[in-house]
Amino acid sequence: MKYISTRGQSPALNFEDVLLTGLAPDGGLYVPECLPRYTPEQIASWAGLSYAELAKKIIAPFVAESIPADDLSRIIDETYAEFSHSAVAPLNQIASNEWVMELFHGPTLAFKDFALQLLGRLLDYILERRNERAVIVGATSGDTGSAAIEGCKRCDNVDIFIMHPHNRVSEVQRKQMTTIAGDNIHNLAIEGNFDDCQAMVKESFADQSFLEGKARLVAVNSINWARIMAQVVYYFAAGITLGAPHRSVAFSVPTGNFGDIFAGYIARNMGLPISQLIVATNSNDILHRFISKNHYDKSTLEHTLSPSMDIMVSSNFERLLFDLYGRNGAAIAELMDNFKTTGELSIEEHRWNFARELFDSARVDDEQTCETIKQVFAQSEYLLDPHTAIGVRAARQCRRDPSVPMVTLATAHPVKFPEPVVKAGLQAPELPYHLRDLYEREERMSVLKKDIAALHEFIREHSRAL
Ligand SMILES: *Cc1c(COP(=O)(O)O)cnc(C)c1O
Repeated sequence: MKYISTRGQSPALNFEDVLLTGLAPDGGLYVPECLPRYTPEQIASWAGLSYAELAKKIIAPFVAESIPADDLSRIIDETYAEFSHSAVAPLNQIASNEWVMELFHGPTLAFKDFALQLLGRLLDYILERRNERAVIVGATSGDTGSAAIEGCKRCDNVDIFIMHPHNRVSEVQRKQMTTIAGDNIHNLAIEGNFDDCQAMVKESFADQSFLEGKARLVAVNSINWARIMAQVVYYFAAGITLGAPHRSVAFSVPTGNFGDIFAGYIARNMGLPISQLIVATNSNDILHRFISKNHYDKSTLEHTLSPSMDIMVSSNFERLLFDLYGRNGAAIAELMDNFKTTGELSIEEHRWNFARELFDSARVDDEQTCETIKQVFAQSEYLLDPHTAIGVRAARQCRRDPSVPMVTLATAHPVKFPEPVVKAGLQAPELPYHLRDLYEREERMSVLKKDIAALHEFIREHSRAL
């Protein structure tokens, strides 16, 4: 399979080169040139497969030229053996024909483990074979950092540097990042905010001379196609369990960067009968503004009780625009250039109407989030984390047909975000067994000024590749 840039100016790449990079040189994001499409008979034949076996079916065509089937099979088995629930992504019924799919049984208790556990192993495998090394530089406001570090902690060929804003991430989130031991793991607490961290990542990608050509710089945020690919699997898993292809399924997805829900859109394009895809946002509602008003505009950041969805722009949105514009890269380049200068974007009416057929959307504020946590607990004694609560609220608001099973993706374990649970008048949950001593574990991190030269010097001193 070949991958092309959404801005049409960069050469097509194969899977391994897409895995080992960030944005395309023309500034676009990579997407598959065309998707595999499955018939109802093929999808029906996957009923009863374990999560890992299903993952092999779905992922194989995306990586076919780069990874032989035997190796892929071993990598996927190892990846999902790390999860603490035997179903990997169990479904839990919370009301009549209404479900949550628990995506928090990975090592860091959030859905990002599904992709980053796999990504770390794929990276190490490809680098080993090519006899190359990679440096990961990433920024996190919480979940991505710990999931990326967990995913890469055993990668011999990868050094990972994750920046977080000093004193501005929750204690659980910080401990989850800083207590993972490994010579290749570097936690950097930056004296600045998340945007400062992200700006330094961008700058590092734009000028990679600090690596002296000795290592590749790899992105672990959701612009990396491999992350989307891994997430397609659980849509199929939920759908098939609830009766697809004989029956349609609806999904509600708490989203920020449009990564997770974009994987649902891909699953539908591959043949899974999805009747509704609901974009659930917190008060950082740029995606809801686009879907409801055809107005995609950058506004100020709000700090909410669902911090993993606190974004100003959605990095994967460009992948959808590319399809809405008939995959015309030149049109996307122009649109995004305009967006860069004006900070806003609207599209032609007929294209927007098409987007509205693909997605529904809702915005859920902090108060409604707490209300929903309380309501669902009262109804079914099921404790939602704030991100998932936003999904459930949006599902109930946007649902069109009660006879279609509605699945909300439960993106994090409630223990990671106790504040809204306590606000809802409920007892904060306890850490799961494998993390029970988290608060006693030793932390390792370095505090750095928000200064690109200091960052690059730190990387040069600590990377084993340099
Ligand atoms: C990252 C994250 C999200 C948002 O995912 P996107 O792919 O950015 O849409 C939602 N919930 C949790 C808990 C997360 O960690």
